[in-house]
Amino acid sequence: MITHQPSGQSGISLWTAEFLDPFTEAAYRKRNAGFNIRHTRFGLGLWGVLLILFIYNDYINLGPVSGFWILFAMRLTVSAVILVFTVVIGRHPGLVMNGHGIAGLLVFGWTGFFLIFFFLPISQMPWIIAMVMAMLIGQFVFIPNRVVTGLAAALYAMIGTMISVYLVAGSGPSELVGLFLMLLVPTGTGLFVCGRFQLEHRRSFAMLLAAESANAELQRQIRAREELEKKLKEQAETDPLTGLYNRRRYETMFIREFQRIKRYGGPMSVLVLDLDHFKRVNDTYGHSAGDVVLQEVAALCRRQLRQVDIIGRLGGEEFVIMLPDTGISDAMTVAERLRKEIESTEIVTDRNRLYITATIGAAEIVHEDQGIEDLVRRADAALYRGKQEGRNRVEAAQQSN
Ligand code: GH3
Ligand code: MG
Ligand code: MG
Repeated sequence: MITHQPSGQSGISLWTAEFLDPFTEAAYRKRNAGFNIRHTRFGLGLWGVLLILFIYNDYINLGPVSGFWILFAMRLTVSAVILVFTVVIGRHPGLVMNGHGIAGLLVFGWTGFFLIFFFLPISQMPWIIAMVMAMLIGQFVFIPNRVVTGLAAALYAMIGTMISVYLVAGSGPSELVGLFLMLLVPTGTGLFVCGRFQLEHRRSFAMLLAAESANAELQRQIRAREELEKKLKEQAETDPLTGLYNRRRYETMFIREFQRIKRYGGPMSVLVLDLDHFKRVNDTYGHSAGDVVLQEVAALCRRQLRQVDIIGRLGGEEFVIMLPDTGISDAMTVAERLRKEIESTEIVTDRNRLYITATIGAAEIVHEDQGIEDLVRRADAALYRGKQEGRNRVEAAQQSN
């Protein structure tokens, strides 16, 4: 189903007291359906009750003659139709909201009412006309309707009244013009009240729409800002080439983890990984190929390690990895797996395919460690030994400084 959003145009016609933009008008009617149906039910209820009460008036004027029973039947029929309409609009709010259903009901009701002219004594004519005038105002005030359809029903009532008066009393043109002018007063008054109500209600709705759209825009800006902040934070914390944590970020994470282990106990290890003869890669294949190698190794480390392991770029072609809750022997296994994986991975740059190796130093936390730098220093020393002993190997630190 296609749903139309109000286009945000909130111009209102002073003639019809409706939005010029059909989508805004449709949105207005939809939003106000609940309120309008409650209001309509109240107005119809009032009408139905009055119709029944006036049976008494008919009886006083006529007694139990056939004319009384005709009016009686008319009153019951119109009341029954009103009752059915009151129930049906719960399921079909369109009958109220587009105005046609209501206008149709009013025309039906007025048609029944005209019978009164023909059956009540002619002496009652002024009272019936007074009643028509009161009802004209009442239909605008108590029964919510669109200005246009409400006016159509009122014109029908005016013309019908004039025809009835003409047929019953044989009034001449000047009397009919006088009657027309009299009926114009309640119609004009009702129209004015109804028009104002419709206009004000739509103005509030337009203001609500504007506020909602301003609010949505604000929400959008807040989201964009939050995303930007997140991006900036990421940029401030990651190494742009490899996407790994930069020194500032991993150091804070290391320290947090170090303090946790110091407090609650348990093992923890650090690996320092340095690519072998990386300068040669740069010299042979170019700096950008070197960059690709760094990215590939970083991605490989990320794939190989657990979610809880913290990987950072120490600088250049050196990476540092913290393995929480991992003792040195497990750390050596992890490091060996990494080393083998790096060694056996073919790295494809835009022009070449090459292989690289890495040397890894590993160290486990010991009781005497004061800070994370003690651990890293031991792992670094192990790495240095690994380099001296021929590279492409994993070396464990001696467990003292
Ligand atoms: P070793 O086996 O002893 O580690 O030898 P090596 O050549 O890897 O060591 P060295 O420290 O001499 O060289 C490191 C090189 O890494 C030098 C530097 O140009 C290069 N390098 C550092 N950062 C980057 C980078 O971001 N991109 C590239 N392409 N190269 C880098
Ligand atoms: Mg190196
Ligand atoms: Mg190096």
